[in-house]
Amino acid sequence: MSVTLGAMEAWLRGCAAAIAAHRDELTQLDAAIGDADHGINMDRGFQAVLAKLPGAGKDIGALLRAAAMALISTVGGASGPLYGTLLLDMAQATAGKGELSPAEWKGALEAGVLGVARRGKARRGEKTMLDALIPAVEELSAALSGGAPFAEALWRCERAASRGVRDTIPLVATKGRASYLGERSAGHQDPGATSSHLLLRAAAEAWAPGQGGNRDEG
Ligand code: ADP
Ligand code: MG
Repeated sequence: MSVTLGAMEAWLRGCAAAIAAHRDELTQLDAAIGDADHGINMDRGFQAVLAKLPGAGKDIGALLRAAAMALISTVGGASGPLYGTLLLDMAQATAGKGELSPAEWKGALEAGVLGVARRGKARRGEKTMLDALIPAVEELSAALSGGAPFAEALWRCERAASRGVRDTIPLVATKGRASYLGERSAGHQDPGATSSHLLLRAAAEAWAPGQGGNRDEG
């Protein structure tokens, strides 16, 4: 199984749909520990991505780059440059490619997540999107190294992101706007980790539909 250019476009469409469907939830999460704009920011960004499809790029790298540019130019706040970096570094890792093997998808995601950490000067445990992204990429990598089929690896990645989101709840934020609250940020789920989980769930849903069991929860 490989990820074709069309499959990558389907993922981006799935991201846009998931963000739109969870827009209010993301904004409410941000209202508790930030400035109540995360869902609005992300939805504006992914609608701009949608507007560039189809034909946004002649290969996967070009497509991801076009999506990154759309996010960077439309998403305000911290998350615009950070998700822009995620996709830009994924674009760089996939430059000129018409399709990706599972290992190449993992490699691209890994590059993107490293880019987010570098750009945001953050690491795991600081109550950010990295608390979903890092365990998810680790699980994807472990699944593929262990010989799991791509579909299974994608859903294991999704479950790890979901656990990562839940694990942000007790954390005290030390990066971004939520860090202004100090200890009072504990007890709330991080909005950026939540949107990151939605993006990874969209990949599993786009490329391995119906193989993840009951996906109704969060
Ligand atoms: P803003 O905080 O500027 O209003 P958003 O509300 O769109 O931007 O995004 C907030 C999310 O961005 C947070 O929930 C967190 O996950 C993520 N975030 C903030 N700062 C960082 C950082 N330095 N590194 C990684 N993620 C970050
Ligand atoms: Mg905000």
